[in-house]
Amino acid sequence: MVNSRFKAVDDAVRKTPVAAVPPAGETSGYYGSKVFNREAMRKYLSEATRRKIYETIERGATLDKSVAEHVAAGMKRWAMDLGATHYTHWFQPLTGGTAEKHDSFTDPRGRGAAVENFSGDLLCQQEPDASSFPSGGLRNTFEARGYTAWDPSSPAFVVDDTLVVPTVFISYTGEALDYKTPLLRSVAAVTKATSEVLEYFGIKGADVQSYLGWEQEYFLIDSSLHAQRPDLILSERTLIGHGSSKNQQLEDHYFGAIPARVLEFMKDLEFEAYQLGIPVKTRHNEVAPNQFELAPVYEEVNLAVDHNLLVMSLMKKVAERHGFKAILHEKPFAGVNGSGKHCNWSLGTADGIGLMSPGKTPEDNLRFLTFMANVLKAVYDNNGLLKASIATAANSHRLGANEAPPAIISSFLGKQVSAAFEELLNTKDLVKIGAKKGYSLGISQIPELLVDNTDRNRTSPFAFTGNRFEFRAVGSSANCGAPLSVLNAIVAYQLKQYKKAVDKRIAAGASVQQAVLDETRETFRAAKEIVFDGNGYSDEWKAEAKRRGLDVESSVPAMIDSFTSAQSIKVHKDTKVLTEVELKARNEVRWEEYSKKIEIEARTVSDLAYNHIIPVAARYQSLLLDNVTKLKALYPEKEFKQLASDELEWIKDISRNTSEAKKIADKLDDLCDSLEGSEGRKKAVGYHDRVVPQLEAIRRHLDALEMIVDDQMWPLPKYRELLFIR
Ligand code: ADP
Ligand code: MG
Repeated sequence: MVNSRFKAVDDAVRKTPVAAVPPAGETSGYYGSKVFNREAMRKYLSEATRRKIYETIERGATLDKSVAEHVAAGMKRWAMDLGATHYTHWFQPLTGGTAEKHDSFTDPRGRGAAVENFSGDLLCQQEPDASSFPSGGLRNTFEARGYTAWDPSSPAFVVDDTLVVPTVFISYTGEALDYKTPLLRSVAAVTKATSEVLEYFGIKGADVQSYLGWEQEYFLIDSSLHAQRPDLILSERTLIGHGSSKNQQLEDHYFGAIPARVLEFMKDLEFEAYQLGIPVKTRHNEVAPNQFELAPVYEEVNLAVDHNLLVMSLMKKVAERHGFKAILHEKPFAGVNGSGKHCNWSLGTADGIGLMSPGKTPEDNLRFLTFMANVLKAVYDNNGLLKASIATAANSHRLGANEAPPAIISSFLGKQVSAAFEELLNTKDLVKIGAKKGYSLGISQIPELLVDNTDRNRTSPFAFTGNRFEFRAVGSSANCGAPLSVLNAIVAYQLKQYKKAVDKRIAAGASVQQAVLDETRETFRAAKEIVFDGNGYSDEWKAEAKRRGLDVESSVPAMIDSFTSAQSIKVHKDTKVLTEVELKARNEVRWEEYSKKIEIEARTVSDLAYNHIIPVAARYQSLLLDNVTKLKALYPEKEFKQLASDELEWIKDISRNTSEAKKIADKLDDLCDSLEGSEGRKKAVGYHDRVVPQLEAIRRHLDALEMIVDDQMWPLPKYRELLFIR
């Protein structure tokens, strides 16, 4: 019998790079060619309509019906000129990923006639059959239907034959059923709060932006090998598999030459991304074999999140063309680096002032320290909530493992900023430095350029990196809109508190500068326990973090409790990002998702044990037994014992491991069946406490069998094949 695994390996090895679609001329020639951007609007919309739509985009002004009609008509014409025949409202349900329902532009008109129809109504609002998207009970409580509504701040685009309109997804009573709605609300809250605080620094009516630059990590696996792994197909991660003797210990993959086939894939992906106006910039190998990263230039957060989601789906699609599967799971391989999505976040003004960048003057530096202190205080007060925003079944394999960030949120500032804060803690009053020069802030110069690679702490989940914070705990498959809405919300809340306190000082007679200086100092003093520059992987840190009052919970179903804590409800309500009802509904969805994910893994591994591994192990054992029987027939007892002793051991090993594996497989099925009776948090906790340890236990036996059984018989591609063949 030919082992199909070898055929798959053969197919994979023989694959030659598929040449990428040749880009038509320079990047600028096709960049954004499939986006309904300003250039397209100039061609397809009247000046009056354009003025209205710009106002909507920039200032969130409501678009009246007649304008929407004009926009829809222009958009349709533009899309049809690019070959579109369909349109869709594209939204971000709580299942993760994106959803879309395609409708044709064509409406039948009389006999045999049709007219291309896409009205203002259809642009602005649609009613997808929403009942199959999770809502955490929201639609039951309120209204059965949900609808999608156009988000004009993210431009429409064309993919294949479809005009895609980015939308929010809400219930008829206005509750958010998606990730985009709270993100937009959080942006409104944080930009308003920021611009109010900026007034203390003489900047009035600033157009504040919340920025995001994501770094997407992923694995590529040859599709023919992927197709042989039921666990990868069903749960996007290997549930079993003995480590490869070589994996990442040589550290030869990071920044190594990109393999030819992978490079063709990347070029193709970039071509697609550029046409959609996604400013992808960096591509490189990651730490693990077959792991890669793609990062764009940062953008306004709502657009950046849409672009990330688009890239994630493009990656999957383009990978297929090149005979790869793109794996976005946080931990596809045990013992090998997992994938994250570092989220580089900052606040700034549209005219280029970075609020997380040190300035040229002491005044600018006070502004810098003010925003830094407020971010740190927000993260300190809400560290559990921030952690809850990135806690998922898949990400739990990264958090707390000795890679990426630990399951405790802390912040790294680097030497220079830490020193500046130390200095701030010791300043009291403004120092008068001569009548003309005014006051000295008593703060010394902070070098403008802090981006210094030697001063980086790779273990920090929320690190300051020169002009931004890098939130590294976010998982590779996540909709990063979720953690970013939390981040924006907590910072907005904190800035509001800060403003109240400063105003109080001013009302009590302090000068604005003195009030700001004092309040910033106190804000930092109250937040400084979040700053940690040491090794986040160490056990001492866990104990120390607990002393500092940081959330050290490590079970995902319990971590997300912080999402509905009194503190979270207060922050979300005050900033109008999510109501208590919406928060609670979201946690219901998350517990359910957690349970489902683990259940799929449990049932898959039990099938693997029963149908793939145990039969093969038995077959190999029978070969050994056959051999032993023959030895026994041929040799005298004493010699036989000597000759067969190893094989007799293996036979026992196989029996022990198969019978244990079988027992656990039964147990996994029984546990899943019994948990069917419970729901919500209780069910998720059951999966976490009772099922996850069994998943780990069964794996040990199955992996032991992989090491014993003849390689020729082993039915599943091994780590060394999955990780090194491309
Ligand atoms: P590294 O791997 O060193 O962390 P990368 O260059 O891969 O850095 O990614 C850094 C990301 O941070 C990019 O998306 C970049 O555009 C983004 N970025 C840079 N400055 C800012 C900023 N002020 N605010 C938000 N994101 C930023
Ligand atoms: Mg990074």
